Amino acid sequence: MNTPTRPSSALTVQRKPGSKTSTAMKPSALTPEDKALRAAFEAAYEREISQSSHGATPQAALHAAAIACRETLARRWAATQQADAARGDKAPVRRVHYLSMEFLMGRALSNALAALKLTAPLEAKLAEQGLALGDVLEREPDAALGNGGLGRLAACFLDSFAELELPSFGYGLRYRYGTFAQVISQGRQLEQPDDWTRNAPDWELPRHDLRYHVGFGGRVEVDASGVRRWQPAESIEAEAFDFVVPAHYSQRVSTLRQWQATAAPIAFKPFCEGDYTRAARHQVLADSINWVLYPDDSTEAGRELRLKQEAFLVSASLQDLVARHLREFGSLHNLGKTNAIHLNDTHPALAPAELMRLLLDEHGLGWDEAWKICCQAVAYTNHTLMPEALETWPVRMFEHLLPRHLEIIYEINHRFLEELQQRFPGDNALAARVSLIDEGSHGGERRVRMASLALVASHRVNGVAALHSELMVQTIFADYARIWPGRFHNVTNGVTPRRWLQQANPALSSLLDSRIGDGWRKNLAELGELSALAGNRELGEEFLAVKRANKERLAGVIRRELGLAVNVDSLFDIQIKRIHEYKRQLLNLLHVISRYQAIRDNPDANWVPRTVIIAGKAASAYQMAKSIVRLAHDVARVINSDPRVGDKLKLVFLPNYSVTLAESIIPAADLSEQISTAGTEASGTGNMKFGMNGAVTIGTWDGANIEMAEAMGVENMFVFGLRADAVAKIKQLGYDPKLYVEENRQLKRVIDAISAGVFSNGDTERYRSLVDSLLGRDVYLLMADFADYVATQAKVDQLFADRAAWAERALRNIAGMGPFSSDRTIAEYVDRVWSVKSLT
Ligand SMILES: *Cc1c(COP(=O)(O)O)cnc(C)c1O
Repeated sequence: MNTPTRPSSALTVQRKPGSKTSTAMKPSALTPEDKALRAAFEAAYEREISQSSHGATPQAALHAAAIACRETLARRWAATQQADAARGDKAPVRRVHYLSMEFLMGRALSNALAALKLTAPLEAKLAEQGLALGDVLEREPDAALGNGGLGRLAACFLDSFAELELPSFGYGLRYRYGTFAQVISQGRQLEQPDDWTRNAPDWELPRHDLRYHVGFGGRVEVDASGVRRWQPAESIEAEAFDFVVPAHYSQRVSTLRQWQATAAPIAFKPFCEGDYTRAARHQVLADSINWVLYPDDSTEAGRELRLKQEAFLVSASLQDLVARHLREFGSLHNLGKTNAIHLNDTHPALAPAELMRLLLDEHGLGWDEAWKICCQAVAYTNHTLMPEALETWPVRMFEHLLPRHLEIIYEINHRFLEELQQRFPGDNALAARVSLIDEGSHGGERRVRMASLALVASHRVNGVAALHSELMVQTIFADYARIWPGRFHNVTNGVTPRRWLQQANPALSSLLDSRIGDGWRKNLAELGELSALAGNRELGEEFLAVKRANKERLAGVIRRELGLAVNVDSLFDIQIKRIHEYKRQLLNLLHVISRYQAIRDNPDANWVPRTVIIAGKAASAYQMAKSIVRLAHDVARVINSDPRVGDKLKLVFLPNYSVTLAESIIPAADLSEQISTAGTEASGTGNMKFGMNGAVTIGTWDGANIEMAEAMGVENMFVFGLRADAVAKIKQLGYDPKLYVEENRQLKRVIDAISAGVFSNGDTERYRSLVDSLLGRDVYLLMADFADYVATQAKVDQLFADRAAWAERALRNIAGMGPFSSDRTIAEYVDRVWSVKSLT
């Protein structure tokens, strides 16, 4: 990775980052504006709460506080838009339009209060009414409009957009149901709908004056002069709802604009004519668009409704962009030089086709100019190397839903393949591989390759960590990298330190402030100053005291949720993330079982007590992942009730993983499990959140773990397992997992116990397919990595037993986390992708 750029370097408005001498955060330093804001907030809060029919309940207080914040946010939003519109066409950074099917925002109130410096005033108001701030904040449901890392990344980016004063819009869909709520019943995952809007406070600013029509179906008509026009059979209206995200150290905000589909008013005609069936069908289509977020970002959705959602997001967002651009400039010729359109994975990859349609059909530009604008504007981030996650759609489905887009895609492809023919004459195999259309030569149907569409139209394509970006151009995109070698880049992910350190871990934040000043909140690189202090004994003890208090808090959550008591002096060993075979929660469980067996063999040995904590959701159709969830519960039941084990080992599965749950778990972690098979985790961001909260990582040489290890010094991370090149090699040579099992008594005993039904009340069928997959193909090489993993866990025990050494190690981990702020990530996107100079 390149050395971290100064976050605000490439932006139009430069602001001093917070620094050690800054007093911006201290209540004593309230400016006159702060005081006015506070008075307005208090007045608005009182007005709202006085109107509550149930008096000052926590729920009413939540709504009143949100509305009182919203007034300020709305003002700041207007000021931000005015400033951005006044930049004209000479600005060095283009306005960014970040298109994403997922935004995993979590709760908003405590972040808004912190950004507006209103936490203490609200606390005081609540105290007058006998309410506690925590009880109020807890009422807010998570806005969980995302599945995992990809959606949470988009949410962290919005925070950095505001902080870095980047002219921008996030664009998403306003799903009624986000990711499901996970309920565990008899050890099994059940999915329940999570209607997040039900008790959500009124955060959003509805923009009733912003409505666009999005068409589906119908046919393309050609008029006398040869102009092609799409006559959609149906038209849905998109209405904007804005979710405003405030900066913490300026008055700027960023915007998440989410689209809501409504049936009116096109269905009115059938309605008037008495064609109620057609009118009702139209209503159903509109409702279905916003109905639900598709699960899992690494399996193929392959459903028509999903394609409709993607088309709806893309069309509404680009119409909004074009309308704004015309308002500001009155002409489209400079659109590409003043606007960036960023595709968060292939989900919004229709964007180039839709932009071409708008420019050609609606605004009369010629092909060459339209295509130039399109290529200037569009850039694409890839998030996974798994070929099955690269979206393709049947041509048939396009013909039926998006006929004009299909024509445009054919034309783009035709020109692309012609150019290719000139550069690589006669290489028909290459042409077939990179074509936007998969001709279905292997007996399948013809399909549109969305990644190819994104690639051909983008002036920049990036992966999300160094290794991932390298593998991306060597594997899935190797042909394209040969065609356009300069197009591919890396931008390593990051997370916002405001949410993941300042808010999630106030005690550690204060400790850091006391030693290195408070500037890290805005310039995370300042964490580096901690490395000179890491060996300080007193600091080490204070750090351990903070960690212990956080562990006590989490132990309280575990007691309340599961009725289980855990020892806060034990090592908290934590793996929280979506449940997936590549992330290898199963490897973690194999280690737990093996440790359990060893403790039973020798209960009086000097064991370092451990509490292993797992949380995560399995996609509802992903049977193997669900089986892993069940195994975790089965193993936990046996271990946690075995009197010979006691405090030496506990296994905890916390249900319903979410942003909010992550915020309470991560500050309590001693050990962070980042154990994906090398070459499979594109970046990971959970690893970064843990690192900045002073957890030590046990991890494979994968994703951003590698850059973390390099930043903190590899000797400060517990690295184990095969590296990506060794994984590829072993697979190529013919991998046989059984050999590893035969060779390793410990491993064999673990597998035998699962097979024999030790954890399933003697049921030898329950985990048969799980064991078969391990002994058969073992795609993710658990058997190959098991021995090194277990040996490395023993080293973790050793270090943990030496409290001072552990504290020093944890502090060195924090000190190395400077580069992993999403502020650095966004500064790099600005520099390499969104600035005007990146176009030349
Ligand atoms: C950070 C985060 C993720 C991503 O975690 P990884 O460990 O990188 O997979 C997923 N879900 C939530 C709720 C998160 O906060």
